[in-house]
Amino acid sequence: MVNLCSLTAEQVVEGVKNNHFSAVEYISQILERIEKIESQINAFTIVDANGALKKALSIDKKIRDGEDEKKIGSLAGVAVGIKDNICTKGLKTTCASKILEDYVSPYDATVVKKLKESGAIIVGKLNLDEFAMGSTTEFSRYGATHNPWNINYVAGGSSGGSAASVAALECTVSIGSDTGGSVRCPASFCSVVGLKPTYGRVSRFGLISYANSLEQIGPMGKTVADTVMVMNSIAGMDDNDQTTLNNGAPKYTTQSKRNIRIGLVKELVEGIEPEVSKCIYSAMDVFSKSDCKCEETSMKSVEFALASYYTIAMAEASSNLARYDNIRYGFESNPDSYEWNAYFAKIRSNFGEEVKRRIITGTYVLSSEYYGKYYLKAQKVRTMLKQELSALYKIYDILIAPTMPVLPFKFGEKIDDPLKMYMIDIDTVVANLTGIPAISVPAGFSKGLPIGLQIMADELQEQTLFETASLFESTANVQRSPKL
Ligand code: GLN
Repeated sequence: MVNLCSLTAEQVVEGVKNNHFSAVEYISQILERIEKIESQINAFTIVDANGALKKALSIDKKIRDGEDEKKIGSLAGVAVGIKDNICTKGLKTTCASKILEDYVSPYDATVVKKLKESGAIIVGKLNLDEFAMGSTTEFSRYGATHNPWNINYVAGGSSGGSAASVAALECTVSIGSDTGGSVRCPASFCSVVGLKPTYGRVSRFGLISYANSLEQIGPMGKTVADTVMVMNSIAGMDDNDQTTLNNGAPKYTTQSKRNIRIGLVKELVEGIEPEVSKCIYSAMDVFSKSDCKCEETSMKSVEFALASYYTIAMAEASSNLARYDNIRYGFESNPDSYEWNAYFAKIRSNFGEEVKRRIITGTYVLSSEYYGKYYLKAQKVRTMLKQELSALYKIYDILIAPTMPVLPFKFGEKIDDPLKMYMIDIDTVVANLTGIPAISVPAGFSKGLPIGLQIMADELQEQTLFETASLFESTANVQRSPKL
């Protein structure tokens, strides 16, 4: 029998609907794969084998009963993993933090609800840096996720579990969240496709906030087409999230068009690891050979992007994480025997080092004395970036850059130096600060380690993004799965 784990979401739906195999057969292979490989990868915080099998049975029954296509769903049978900062009814949502270690959400996030309605099968929750703060998944309470291409290397973060599970064939597609690159970074490090949609295109209802003005939920998959399928399920307006855009989400496709005008942002390639920059310049050639107009361009204000991002992200984090006081939710303890401040301090000592660092720095930049000097300035940079981008998008349909300035690296290399860790987000944060959509697609390898190409379009131009990404995917033909 064919290895059903290596199929794309498109192939799974096709196979299940046409009775080439049952959803139960496919899910059983996925669960076996997880059983076999998970001890090496550590992509999951929780695997819901029973729930997944039950849902597979119900999909098979619907198909046997000849139910309407719509009721069976556009993602019928597809195994999806959910980053563990997105609420799932009946399954824990821990944010890989001690502070939420027993938290079970009473409701499903809108994306989870929509995926279930589309017939997708939730196989489990996926590992992340605590509260999505990090770029390697090393800050998880459950231990780091390992890169399926070389298990001695980081998988990227913060949605490391989401990317590694897809690359290691433990899930067919997955969901991550991207505040400053957390979908695209691990997608790049694990050689899968990962999309951060336009701000407001996908509901954030049920995503546990880290920095809500920057973040979006986004899909990951083996192919561009798979991320398109997931977007067609999850995109759109939601009454529960007032920041969702009220124009209807179009049905996206992968049909690739030629003659795309592409600009490579030179400031985002300067000073990066030579192997990565070489690969990005050859991506330029791939486009030029496909009849696209591709040239270098400049975006001066990216110089300030990283500082602006970390100022705003930490400010918002300090406010969003103030709710974890163990009173409204948390683990058991006895507040009555403490003085209030002592109790609060005791409870909040359960956050990890990196989360604490950000809460403290965020509180500082918001304090009345430093607000103007840091926070306000950071917001001004955001406006500058937006203005510069809108001028560029009058000339180009698409901007490209590396997703990450470095190759995946070994565990422990950057964990003790916060600035070193923050610096590797230089190429991804522009899209979050400005709200534009951006996708990472596999672009090649160096020393057996993956490199991702980042493709960025103007606000709401996901369709152009998908067309460009699939043109690149079909022309560049990069290897998909590691041999594990
Ligand atoms: N690495 C970035 C940070 O730590 C991005 C994280 C994310 O996108 N959630 O803030």
